[in-house]
Amino acid sequence: MPQTVDTETESMLRESVRAFVKKEVAPIAKKIDREDQFPVEVFRKMGKLGFLGVTIPEEYGGSAMGYRAQGIIEEELGYASASLGLSYGAHSNLCMDSIYRNGSPEIRETYLPKLCSGEWIGSLCLTEPESGSDALAMKTHAEKADGGWKITGSKTLITNAPLADIFVVYAKTGDSLSAFVALATDSGLSRGKKFDKMGMRGSPTGELFFDSMYIPDNRTLGAIGVGKDIIMSGLNLERVILSFIFIGLARRGIEMSVQYASSRKQGGKPIGDRELIQEKLAYMYTRYETSKMLCYRAVDEVSKDPMNVLSAASCILYTTEAAEYIAREALQIWGGMGYVSDSEVERLLRDAVLGQIGAGTTEIRKKLVGHELIKNYVKNGRLPE
Ligand SMILES: Cc1cc2nc3c(=O)[nH]c(=O)nc-3n(C[C@H](O)[C@H](O)[C@H](O)COP(=O)(O)OP(=O)(O)OC[C@H]3O[C@@H](n4cnc5c(N)ncnc54)[C@H](O)[C@@H]3O)c2cc1C
Repeated sequence: MPQTVDTETESMLRESVRAFVKKEVAPIAKKIDREDQFPVEVFRKMGKLGFLGVTIPEEYGGSAMGYRAQGIIEEELGYASASLGLSYGAHSNLCMDSIYRNGSPEIRETYLPKLCSGEWIGSLCLTEPESGSDALAMKTHAEKADGGWKITGSKTLITNAPLADIFVVYAKTGDSLSAFVALATDSGLSRGKKFDKMGMRGSPTGELFFDSMYIPDNRTLGAIGVGKDIIMSGLNLERVILSFIFIGLARRGIEMSVQYASSRKQGGKPIGDRELIQEKLAYMYTRYETSKMLCYRAVDEVSKDPMNVLSAASCILYTTEAAEYIAREALQIWGGMGYVSDSEVERLLRDAVLGQIGAGTTEIRKKLVGHELIKNYVKNGRLPE
């Protein structure tokens, strides 16, 4: 059974993140969205409070609480500002955790403390202009050079790219793939445009170009040629952690809906007394609770086995569809005022749409779940437990 109730330590973490979010994030969430500005100072404070490195051992500046703790932080950020949650995920989960899981002792010692403290901002670069869902078909390639590698190519739609200091970059090395640690100061690396997006505004998304960017041998992540395994194991954790943003967003959507349904009167009584509105609330709540159970089960399963595709893909498939449904219904309950740009529900809906695109689209998740079920059935003659 999934453990959906926090342990005592997790409960303390949740309370402190919730208090931080209430004081530092919620009051500026609208500004982050409107001005499309990443709140750097708030992010650095998250580092000082120890929220950025919860999965990283203490010797590198973290607190070694694990992926459940990271999920809790995402859930609480997602409640107030999904875009801050997205940038947090790219920094802590995509970049920092990849470096920890795959980096040499030298790489870990050099870069993890800076990422845990928030002094540096991290990013992970997989997607390219011609390879998104089929990420392994990337064109960016690395050629062996004296004492290192020269990387040529480009990446696009990369979270934090416009301001990151450090990047996990995937490139072809012959017929296989490899991962490298690039720094913003590396010669041959340049930033392209920052995209203007419909949602997740304030989480900067951009392009990167590599023109014979030189990376010394001691900045390869894992062995040369194992990039595909690094991508695949990281993607499952990324899918689960990203899902937590959307349970936070869903909670906010339901809360706003219940509040509005109980106060908005039409025909002489609160709209919440109408059965059609109650039906909406019932489905919203049920999908939210189901999402929570899936997320907490998946984070436990995928922490133990990062190659558990079925758990990760089914979790994010359901949770993100549920969040978009909940945000859409919240807007409907708010009626015309929900459609006005000043209302928070309108932002929830725009942010929720990203859930079905990032970390592999809804279509790819369906494909993965179907494929895993059939593979399991052919092998074991039954459904997975
Ligand atoms: C805000 C944002 C942040 C992002 N952050 C990052 C990041 O930090 N790092 C990073 O590397 N990437 C990032 N991405 C990229 C993201 O992972 C890709 O957008 C996503 O994987 C989809 O790739 P694509 O956009 O090229 O779409 P495509 O792969 O071109 O897909 C287009 C459509 O075709 C469908 N499709 C594709 N293949 C199949 C198939 N085999 N079967 C059925 N349907 C299919 C897709 O589901 C989709 O509906 C980000 C994207 C966004 C929007």
